[in-house]
Amino acid sequence: MFGTGLLKGLGVTMKHFAETFIDDRKPMPSRYADSIQLEHGRRIIDQPITQEGLLTIQYPEEKRLLPERFRYIPMLLWDTEKGEDRCTACGICAKVCPPQCIWIVRDSDENGKPVTRPAEFFIDAAVCMSCSFCVEFCPFDAIKMNHDYELAVYDRYPQLVYDKEELTVPLEYYAAMWPEQFAAEQEALRKAEEEERAKAEAKAKAAEAKAKAGKSADKPKRTPEEIEAMKQKAAARSAAAKEKAAGGADASDKASSDTGDDAAKKARLEELKRKAAERAKQRKQSEG
Ligand code: SF4
Ligand code: SF4
Repeated sequence: MFGTGLLKGLGVTMKHFAETFIDDRKPMPSRYADSIQLEHGRRIIDQPITQEGLLTIQYPEEKRLLPERFRYIPMLLWDTEKGEDRCTACGICAKVCPPQCIWIVRDSDENGKPVTRPAEFFIDAAVCMSCSFCVEFCPFDAIKMNHDYELAVYDRYPQLVYDKEELTVPLEYYAAMWPEQFAAEQEALRKAEEEERAKAEAKAKAAEAKAKAGKSADKPKRTPEEIEAMKQKAAARSAAAKEKAAGGADASDKASSDTGDDAAKKARLEELKRKAAERAKQRKQSEG
C-alpha cells in the first residue's frame, strides 16, 4: 500500500523517542551508566552497543570515549628511559605519506657529520588525512597516531604546521592512549631482545670452542704414554753413552800400561847389549 514504508520509518523514530523520553525520566539515564564524570560537569560517555533510543551528546561538555584504534594526527615518541627521540630521521614516513605532508631535517654533529636524529620534523595537520601509513611503515615505532582531535585554530599557517616540539610526546602518553598495542609492542621487543641475546651467546660459545680447538691443534700430538716411552729411550741412550765413555777410559789405561811394558823391554835390551859388550871385551883380553 502506498506510504507503508514511510509509516514504518516514522514508527521507528517514535519508538526511539519514547524510549529516550522514558530513559531520561530516570535519575541516571542508561547512556550515562558507564560514563566518566569529570570536573565542571564534563563527562566522557562510553556508549554501549546495546544502547537504544536517541543518543545526543552535549559536546563539548560531554564527549564520547574514543576506542583505542581511533587516529587523528601523528605524534612522535620520546623514549623517557633512554632520554632520546625514537625517530632516527630515516625519512621513510615522509616518503610513504600519500599527501606528502611530512618534512624532516636530519641533525648533524659538531663536525657536520649527519647523525640518526631529526633536527626538525614538521607535519602539516591541514593536509594530513589520518591514513596512518607513516605509523605502519616506521621501522622504529617512533611515530604513532594521536587521539587529540580538538585542533581548531584561527589561522592555518603556521598553527596547523606542527613542529618537532609540538609533535613530541613521552612514551607514557602513548602507553596510556594505546594500552593494548603498547603492551603487544613491548612483548615483541622483549622477545626480539631475548633472541638477539641468545644469538650473541651462541656466537660467543662457538668462538670460544673454535679458540680451544685452535689451541689444541698447536699442541704436540703425543699421548702421555708416548712421552714416557720417549723419556725412557732418552734415559737408555744417555746410559749407553756413559757406558761407552767409561769403556774408552779403560782402553786408554790399557794403552798407557802398554807404553810402560815397552819401556821395560827397551831397558832390558839395553842391559843385555851392555852385558854382551862387556863379555866381548873380556874375551878379547883373555885371547890377547
Ligand atoms: S618517524 Fe620513523 S619512519 Fe619517520 S623518520 Fe622517524 S624513524 Fe624514520
Ligand atoms: S597519517 Fe597519512 S597523511 Fe598523515 S602524516 Fe601520516 S602518512 Fe601522511
